[in-house]
Amino acid sequence: MQQTRLIDGAGAAAVLRQRIAAAAALKARAGVVPTLAAVLVGDDAASAVYVRNKGKASRETGLGSVEHRLPASTGEAELLALIARLNGDDGIDGILVQLPLPPQIDPQRVIAAIDPAKDVDGFHPVNVGRLWSGGTALVPCTPWGVLMLLRDTLGNLAGAEAVVIGRSNIVGKPVAALLLQENCTVTLAHSKTRDLPEIARRSEILVAAIGKPEFVRGAWIKPGATVIDVGISRIAAVDGKSRLVGDVAFAEAQGIAGAITPVPGGVGPMTIACLLRNTLIAACRRRGIDEPAV
Ligand code: NAP
Repeated sequence: MQQTRLIDGAGAAAVLRQRIAAAAALKARAGVVPTLAAVLVGDDAASAVYVRNKGKASRETGLGSVEHRLPASTGEAELLALIARLNGDDGIDGILVQLPLPPQIDPQRVIAAIDPAKDVDGFHPVNVGRLWSGGTALVPCTPWGVLMLLRDTLGNLAGAEAVVIGRSNIVGKPVAALLLQENCTVTLAHSKTRDLPEIARRSEILVAAIGKPEFVRGAWIKPGATVIDVGISRIAAVDGKSRLVGDVAFAEAQGIAGAITPVPGGVGPMTIACLLRNTLIAACRRRGIDEPAV
């Protein structure tokens, strides 16, 4: 039986944050404090927690952080005006608009209004285009975290057969683009994919970003494969409480996968660390100063 290694995303994220803090301290000596502006519209509790955590993580890493909280009734024009002000503010290096937005605001229009050089979420069409065409892009945070964990686990990824299940713009598609850049042979699967278990079973790398608890069964995993579980779902537990699970049936994967990320403690912690990384990188690129290798 295969010994399945746990991929320690929390540990990898802590190391990345230390590296960012060290690089940020060097830049601070030169008078540059990379600063993230987070914009929250409305009072969705989960979004408020995310924004608060991003601000806290920024400050802990020595980055600057500002928050703009707007009421749920905010109109699109008002939000676009704020983004225009942040675009023009030289003290702001990264702009993050927390999604989802209230229904009266078109998220695509908002994303397109952010200066691509400050687009630390990597969702602007210019950054998406650069990612797919091999240019210098700000890359979405969760996908970059996935790539870092795969590189840590496997080293060189060239030639590996990879399947990415889920084709969202924020996770699945950019993960596929990054793995293609690493010279993997990539299959991008989705809800209309036929014979998904069969496709999954032939892959040495399996990335699940579906949002369906424990959807990927142990029998779908190629023995020895590296499994990155992006999904996070809260399900009822036997004790009447609830617990977080991923898109992969974690217990079934034991003894089959070569390595797997846990949920929680896998991809999740990497996402915020990669946001800090993007803020640092954006600050350096905008000023034409040396980019640290973090
Ligand atoms: P999403 O926008 O809802 O996309 C889900 C994708 O899964 C879609 O492409 C969908 O296919 C596909 N899918 C749904 N049912 C399927 C099925 N039966 N078979 C195969 N594919 C199926 O979700 P997302 O934003 O990418 O997020 C995915 C999960 O990752 C969620 O649990 C989310 O909470 C989690 N997440 C975690 C982090 C983190 O930091 N750890 C960050 C972002 C997201 P179609 O396109 O055909 O509909």
